[in-house]
Amino acid sequence: MTRNKPGKTIRSVLDACADCDTCRFLMDESCPLFPELYRLYDQEKEKNEPADYDALRKLADRCTLCGLCPCPNIRADVIREKTERVREEGMPLGVRLLADVQTFGRWGSLAPKVLNKVLSFAAVRQVAKKIAAIHPKRDIPELAGENFFHWAQKKGLVHAAQQAPKVTYFAGCSAGYLFPDVAKATVRTLHSSGVSIYVPPQQCCGMPSLLEGDAPTALKRMGANLKILLQALADGYDLVCSCPTCGFLMKVLLKEGAFYSTDYQQSVSPDDNEMWVPGNETGTSSFMRLKKSVYTKILTDNSYFSDLEPLERINLAANIMDLGQYLERLHGRDRLNTQFAAVPGHMVYYAPCHQREQRMGTPYLDLLSKIPDLKVKRVGNQMDCCGMGGQLRL
Ligand code: SF4
Ligand code: SF4
Repeated sequence: MTRNKPGKTIRSVLDACADCDTCRFLMDESCPLFPELYRLYDQEKEKNEPADYDALRKLADRCTLCGLCPCPNIRADVIREKTERVREEGMPLGVRLLADVQTFGRWGSLAPKVLNKVLSFAAVRQVAKKIAAIHPKRDIPELAGENFFHWAQKKGLVHAAQQAPKVTYFAGCSAGYLFPDVAKATVRTLHSSGVSIYVPPQQCCGMPSLLEGDAPTALKRMGANLKILLQALADGYDLVCSCPTCGFLMKVLLKEGAFYSTDYQQSVSPDDNEMWVPGNETGTSSFMRLKKSVYTKILTDNSYFSDLEPLERINLAANIMDLGQYLERLHGRDRLNTQFAAVPGHMVYYAPCHQREQRMGTPYLDLLSKIPDLKVKRVGNQMDCCGMGGQLRL
């Protein structure tokens, strides 16, 4: 990545989006950043005075990387700004603690009951929230009594699976340490359809570190996962993850810029004078053929993950599947166990932003609709935020 002084990249975001103005109304209720961006811009115009560094810093902190805004380069620049700031100024201890779910989960799993007990005292909770910069009204989730990875070990899932169909399962830290019932349910669902499962050694996907500007940690962790998952792919496994955020990182963010890399261009373009840009997101359809002399400086692999091998990034992004996608594929091949028990009642279903940004249709809605006696209604549309980003609108 090219380097700027902290403040410069977010300044360019403010200028570009103020000039464009599209998101003043488009994103006014879906995103915590844009309303503040336009407020700052209007204030600058009124006072004839540019926003100071502190205001710009707080502006960048509002982005949760939900991925909803129309221009991927804008959200990439917000993350670049945070990364540049951490590189220059370091990372406050509280943010470092909060961003490192993996370490928190691993250490906390040694004595989860003790940790949960300690955090149950209001005074301790208050101090912990202050250190970690968590809003006073926000609950701190309890650590599970037994994390998913221990459970998987006890169940023998950490050994290579022998029988096809076989899946290598990337659980992620949330399901791994905080909500292991989600990961266990994933295993049980796949087992009920005769799928063998391997849970490899895995690191945090890197998203919390990326979001907080800690690029070395995010790259190190994703780099390790990349090798492990591609080895499993080469060994004949399907790759599945159940966390929408891990999936968004591995399927969308990871491959950004990779199609412009020299390695990829050499693998697809037979003409030294042309850049071949794929017409779809997986790089498997027809290509646009562009003059290299014109585009080679504009279309570059200068993205967040460009230190990792571009062909490996493309390979993982193209092959890892969300659990819903995988179940839908099993169903399409008549391999899904559909002997669902009746669940009389009504349910609403909301697709989270990081799942929507994977552009994979609505497999969960379709599968839930097959449960006898259950009426499922989808809530929320393409631009809605669940509230995790600070705004709730359904
Ligand atoms: S994100 Fe894109 S569409 Fe929205 S204001 Fe900025 S430049 Fe315009
Ligand atoms: S990624 Fe989400 S939170 Fe960040 S600027 Fe875009 S819409 Fe806002």
